[in-house]
Amino acid sequence: ELSQPRSIWFDGAVRPWADAQVHVWTETVLRAASVFEGLRGYWSPDDERHYFVHLDRHVRRLQRSAKVTRIPFRLETDDVLKALTELVLDLGYREDIYVRPTAYLEKGRYTADASGLAGGFFMPVFPSPRERTIDAGVRCQVSSWRRSGDDTAPPRVKAAANYYNLRLARLEAEGNGFDEAILLNAAGKVAETGGASVFVVRDGVAATPAVSDSVLDSITRASALELLRELGLQVEERPVDRTELYVADEVLLTGTLCEITPVVDVDGLPVGDGAPGPVTRQLQTAYYAACRAGSSDARGWLTEGPRV
Ligand code: PMP
Repeated sequence: ELSQPRSIWFDGAVRPWADAQVHVWTETVLRAASVFEGLRGYWSPDDERHYFVHLDRHVRRLQRSAKVTRIPFRLETDDVLKALTELVLDLGYREDIYVRPTAYLEKGRYTADASGLAGGFFMPVFPSPRERTIDAGVRCQVSSWRRSGDDTAPPRVKAAANYYNLRLARLEAEGNGFDEAILLNAAGKVAETGGASVFVVRDGVAATPAVSDSVLDSITRASALELLRELGLQVEERPVDRTELYVADEVLLTGTLCEITPVVDVDGLPVGDGAPGPVTRQLQTAYYAACRAGSSDARGWLTEGPRV
């Protein structure tokens, strides 16, 4: 669980945490009508500021999610950065942070007519230390729940409602003593975990499901593909069989929160020799270097936050 900050961006301003409230009889509560993003700000002690990773891509994805779900959201990257700047200065965190911009629907049951819609936007920021599992790796279970598809609850849309599907899978995995679930899609091919993309590495080739294989159009996934190519691997975006998880040299997860996390076991079978592998370690090093490049960001991934 994330610790509760003292303030939050809500309804156009930084406000005390307790003041950010909606009524129970709203679409966001009744039908999970909200779309959200999760992004990281990496603290640079030299510059005494955060650098946000792919802020523009996250805002664009949020805009697209809002468009599909007809949730009013009119902010641009600059607006979000302005809000984030105010909040970060108010909170004063001098460490890595995790940001959750969220657009939600208050009114407008099944209508796309703007005159009948009312929505809001909130954005909390949390301290976000590196997860322990990044070094040790995680043990995964292939879920008995299937990932929803583009024709049901489209994974491309980062909607709160989609996380009901992922919640069922995570609860099952946790109940069975695993760290994380890997869901298959309706075709029985590998999709993703409850919060990360899945890569398999075998004989110098890295493969991950294509975006149309029922996965989130993940931003870290795109970054990982870029870095894996630079590391000299052949990369493939294609349907991945369940059994490829069992015969892979390495399996790894990518995502904003889990960054690059090794999978050391799937369904009780050790991945490779059961320890994080060399490609995973190299990718971790490359990913951290890029995210922590600060003012020498050569990739154009980073947006500078205010001096704290
Ligand atoms: N899949 C799911 C279901 C997720 O919730 C996330 C986290 N947003 C990811 C993948 C990774 O996406 P990203 O790299 O954009 O954080």
